[in-house]
Amino acid sequence: MAVSSSHYDVIIIGAGAAGLMCAATAGYRGRKVLVVDHANKPGKKILMSGGGRCNFTNLNSTPANFLSDNPHYCISALKRYTPQDFLELVERHGVEHEEKAPGQLFCQNSAKDILNVLLTECEWAGAEIRMATSVTQVQPTETGYKLQTSSGALSCESLIVACGGLSIPTMGATGFGYELAKQFGLSVLPTRAGLVPFTLHPELKQQLSPLSGISCPVEAHCHNHHFKEPMLVTHRGLSGPSMLQVSSYWQAGDEVHINLLPAQNIQDDLFTLRKHKPQSTIAQYLNQHLSKRFAQAFNE
Ligand SMILES: Cc1cc2nc3c(=O)[nH]c(=O)nc-3n(C[C@H](O)[C@H](O)[C@H](O)COP(=O)(O)OP(=O)(O)OC[C@H]3O[C@@H](n4cnc5c(N)ncnc54)[C@H](O)[C@@H]3O)c2cc1C
Repeated sequence: MAVSSSHYDVIIIGAGAAGLMCAATAGYRGRKVLVVDHANKPGKKILMSGGGRCNFTNLNSTPANFLSDNPHYCISALKRYTPQDFLELVERHGVEHEEKAPGQLFCQNSAKDILNVLLTECEWAGAEIRMATSVTQVQPTETGYKLQTSSGALSCESLIVACGGLSIPTMGATGFGYELAKQFGLSVLPTRAGLVPFTLHPELKQQLSPLSGISCPVEAHCHNHHFKEPMLVTHRGLSGPSMLQVSSYWQAGDEVHINLLPAQNIQDDLFTLRKHKPQSTIAQYLNQHLSKRFAQAFNE
């Protein structure tokens, strides 16, 4: 029996990081693989990741760094593919990289290097990538799935949905993955933003605007989840690793606490100052420990 040219062993919806990794893996297993994506170019989010230099892995990642109702999933996933495995892949392709904070690896040049690694792997594995192709319908069949797409009907034995999350629709994000999950009877939890910067109310934003562009070490916490990493003041609000991390635990109305002097024991310091240098002021103390512009803002 002739096999139709529109039939694949594996079809993957989404040519982002997840879809391209799946495509290469399935291709190397000898499967006939097609990746379809409605965007005009693959891996757009990879290109903007890590400020354009993609923080492509963290050697100290553990399952505890992932939020999930099923923590066991992450334990097995991380055992089967470790940060070291990805680092080895990146190094095999000669991508120059650097360690910013301990374990945090970024491309030396550009996030494009990571996209190129994934595209090259897909090519070597024989996976086909078809961009500018929207999937409008997925139906189960006796042997797999039938897809209606903007470039005609396709069929496959295995279907991988790697449509990504809802953030940044201009990069191609849609809720298609969630809709498909519902269509196939999977329960979908309510979605909310995670790993995102905070925007501030106009009053506070204006107050902090002279500090825009300044980064400082802080300890931010929300609901007893503490993050001792830098915070960045932006023209819209607060960003940087500590704020991005804490945002995953925050919901509207919750309080976020930010300690601008995480390395100091302020109570002990002030007590000692009062004892030994009773003339010193809080302003002098802040000048000593905060960056100059921050200290100025608080002393005004
Ligand atoms: C500003 C920013 C910085 C980041 N920095 C980092 C970082 O430094 N390190 C890090 O590890 N992560 C970072 N991330 C997160 C990381 O980029 C994402 O987790 C990752 O790219 C998600 O990959 P994905 O393949 O799951 O989804 P996506 O990259 O979103 O890919 C999904 C693909 O599916 C396609 N698609 C959607 N709907 C359809 C449809 N109906 N039909 C066809 N195709 C469809 C989209 O066009 C897209 O190409 C960052 C994210 C952002 C936004």
